[in-house]
This record gives sequence, C-alpha cells and structure tokens, in this order.
Amino acid sequence: MKATAIAHLLQQEPSLIDVTARGWVRAFRSNRFIALNDGSTLHNIQCVIDFENFDEEVLNNITVGAAIEVKGTLVESQGQGQKVEIQVSDVEVLGKADPEDVKLTILSPKRHTMEKLREQAHLRVRTNTFGAVMRVRSKLSFAIHDYFQQNGFYYMHTPIITGSDAEGAGEMFKVTNLDGKNPPLNEDGTINYKEDFFEKETNLTVSGQLEAETFAMGLGKVYTFGPTFRAENSNTSRHLAEFWMIEPEVAFNDLADNMDLAEDFIKYVVNYALEHCADDLEFLENRLLQEEKSKPQAERSDMALRDKLKFVLENNFKRVSYTEAIDILKNSKPNKKKKFKYLIEEWGADLQSEHERFLVEKHFKCPVILFDYPAKIKAFYMRLNDDEKTVRAMDVLFPGIGEIVGGSQREERYDVLKEKMAAMDISEEELYWYLDLRKFGTCVHSGFGLGFERLVLFVTGMGNIRDVIPYPRTPGNASF
Ligand code: ATP
Ligand code: MN
Repeated sequence: MKATAIAHLLQQEPSLIDVTARGWVRAFRSNRFIALNDGSTLHNIQCVIDFENFDEEVLNNITVGAAIEVKGTLVESQGQGQKVEIQVSDVEVLGKADPEDVKLTILSPKRHTMEKLREQAHLRVRTNTFGAVMRVRSKLSFAIHDYFQQNGFYYMHTPIITGSDAEGAGEMFKVTNLDGKNPPLNEDGTINYKEDFFEKETNLTVSGQLEAETFAMGLGKVYTFGPTFRAENSNTSRHLAEFWMIEPEVAFNDLADNMDLAEDFIKYVVNYALEHCADDLEFLENRLLQEEKSKPQAERSDMALRDKLKFVLENNFKRVSYTEAIDILKNSKPNKKKKFKYLIEEWGADLQSEHERFLVEKHFKCPVILFDYPAKIKAFYMRLNDDEKTVRAMDVLFPGIGEIVGGSQREERYDVLKEKMAAMDISEEELYWYLDLRKFGTCVHSGFGLGFERLVLFVTGMGNIRDVIPYPRTPGNASF
C-alpha cells in the first residue's frame, strides 16, 4: 500500500480504514506512543502500538530520528490535540538512528539555539521551527509565480554569469577558470582575461534588471525570480552573499504604477501565506512570543505575527518623498539626542537601516514607500526628475526589516542616460545594448527588486536571514 501524507491523514475522520504512513520518529513514549512526522505538516501523527505484540528488537529500534513505516487503522484519538491516530498493526524500521549519536545532534528533543541549528544545517529541516519556515518559503515562492502569471507577466531567466560589471548594485564575485596561482599575464603584469574561459572578465550577477529591461521592451510585463550574488562584507542579519530576488519590469509603467504594483504584489503574497500556511504561522507566532519574552519590554513588538501580517494587508503603504523623510529624521528625537549611529545633518544623506526603521516603526507605524531620492546616492539608470537633483527611485520599508524593495522608473531618454553614464564612469561600449533600448522605440518603464529572504523573514517573524534560506552563504561561511 502506498503511504499517505500525514497532513492528509490528520484531516480524515476516524474511519477505521487501513492506512500506511512513513516518516521520522520525533518521540516514542512509554513503549506505546510514537510521534511521527513526515514533513508534510508541522503536526505529528500519533501512532499507538501494543508493545506486547511486537518484537523487542523492532521496538528497540524505534528511536528518535529513525525512519519508519507504520501500517494500521485510522481511529479516533483518545489523547488531546488530535482527532485521529493510527492504531498500529505493523511497523518496519526503514532507517535506524543510534540514540547515542542522536544525542549529540539537534535531533535530540531539547531546545536548541538558532546558532546550533545553523551548524547542523543538514539536519535542521527536521526541527519544527525550520520545517515551518521552509514550508512557508515554498508557499511564498509559488504565490509569487501565481501573482505574476495571473496578471499577465512572463517569467524570464536572466543570466547568472554576467559580462557586464555595471549593474552597480554591489560588490561582485569573479567567475574564472584561470589558474589562480599562475594566471596568464599581460605585458604590464595585469591578468590577461583574453585567455579566460569567456575571453573577458565575468562575474556572478548582482541583479537581473538590465537584462529584464530588454525583455520588458518586447514582452511588456516580465519578472525574474532567481539567485543573485553580492560580495558584501557586511555581517548583518539582513544580508546574504547569495540571495533570491524577484524583479518585475514593466513597459509603460511610471513610478506611481510601480508603487501600486509593489504594494499589490506584497499584499497578495502575504495574504496567500495567511491563507495557505495557517498552522505554520500559528506555530511561528508562538515561537516569536516565546523569544520576545527574553527581550526588554521596549524591544518587543506590540503585535502578534499574524496581526502584523494582517495589518500590512489592511493598510495603505504610506508614500513619502525622500525630502519629507529627511525633515522628519532631522527633527526626530534620536537625531537630536544623537542616538542614531549616523546622524542626519543635511539633504543628500544616504539613509541607513536605523533611519528606515525609525520611519516605519516609530514615526509612521506602517509600511512606507520612500520616493524621489537624490540622484547622487542612486544608480545611473534611474529617471532624472525635472529638478535635476532627484531621481524617480522608490524603496519600500518594512517594520523589523527596513528595506524590502528597491526600485525605480528607468531613464528612457537616450541623451540623458548617455550623460549620466559618462558622469558615473560607466562604459558606453560595454552597455551599448542597454543604450539601444533608448534608440529603438524607447518608452517610460519601471521595475523593482524584492529580496525574497527579506520577505520570508517578515512573514515568518524570524530574526536572522540565515534562518530563512536552506544553506546560507555569508562572509566566512559556505558550508554544505
Ligand atoms: P540594502 O541597502 O539593504 O543593502 P540595497 O539597496 O543594496 O539593500 P537593492 O540593490 O535595491 O538593495 O536590491 C533590491 C532588494 O534586494 C533589496 O530591497 C533587498 O530586499 C534585497 N537585498 C539586497 N541586498 C541583499 C542581500 N545582501 N541579502 C539579501 N537581500 C538583499
Ligand atoms: Mn546593499
């Protein structure tokens, strides 16, 4: 008989039908109650065995972490918290787990720290917390495709290896197959990349935007959803060296349309998680409450996780210009009392995470979209405003996270773009194809990038970005 997913079994009525379940033992109490989990749901199914009827050898091998198959009938549960359980007639141990070894791992049924879980990242998916996060992550991925596909967008795969170093979004990782110890050199002693695999310098992409723009100029509405790489040496709880990014790009959208899209999109996927991950979110909400008990009152959030998610759905994101934001920050208490690490002194300052979070968490108390940033602190491709000082950039700021989305209306005017590239020392030769878009039927267009892990952080209420991706890559760490 084929095994049935435990998620499915737990929704059945006690029907006395024969069932088979497979999974990993989470607990075995009194030689009688097995808590079995197969990853299909947070919840374990209770499997009751009459130990008198089973070999001692088999019983001895039913230990925490072991893989087993049980056959039996689905009966009404006598215990609390579940409707049904399996009255076991047959059990087979498929894969043993030596209790002495298990004791040394995070599989042992104790509270383990998040750090400990990260060290054993190959096992952490068998914990309630990480399992829940990964199920939510999967659902959110699907919701993203769902949203765009329902709204007429085409999914585009942008290259991972890029020949342009002008993406400008961050430090890049080199891709080469030259011998690192003994590379071919030019006469002046520099490395001769003509002899490299691609006969030029190449990097891992930091963003698929520029290529996505080319496709928007033919398919109209496109999105990417793929890995991006940034060699940023910042060890924060919100940065990874390898992260997944969603980048829609839409022809004929201006900045206001772009903000509407970002807001509508985020609300859709957050709502999707609320509807499709109820159990996992309930669990994660309680986990967060528990975690926050050890924090000082002032640092605790005043809303439970699911209330925070609903709050995002029910409220308009507050749209505020950079200039207004600077005024607010300049006159804010933490600025006046010099509590910010980076004090805001004048217009033109780049906003740090502490400022973004102040605006969202303390001042507006809701998600904020900042727009019209100083041209000087933003990338070359952003549409210059008529004031010639600001560009049509927008960042979406979220509580607890800071920046979750960065986007802009793109500069569509050939001459202006050329000038800006020259001013920022970006090679025209290299990006001729990007300039071509402005020569052949140019049009207003806009897009943004949303860091997938930041979204997962927000929805799951986790505190560290390393705990929402299967195998995090961060400075000094590329294990597994
Ligand atoms: P930050 O200021 O937080 O470093 P950024 O301005 O470098 O962000 P963008 O270049 O606009 O970010 O990238 C778009 C989105 O990608 C960001 O809004 C964020 O959600 C996400 N992102 C950027 N860098 C990282 C990173 N290192 N790890 C995870 N997500 C990231
Ligand atoms: Mn950055």
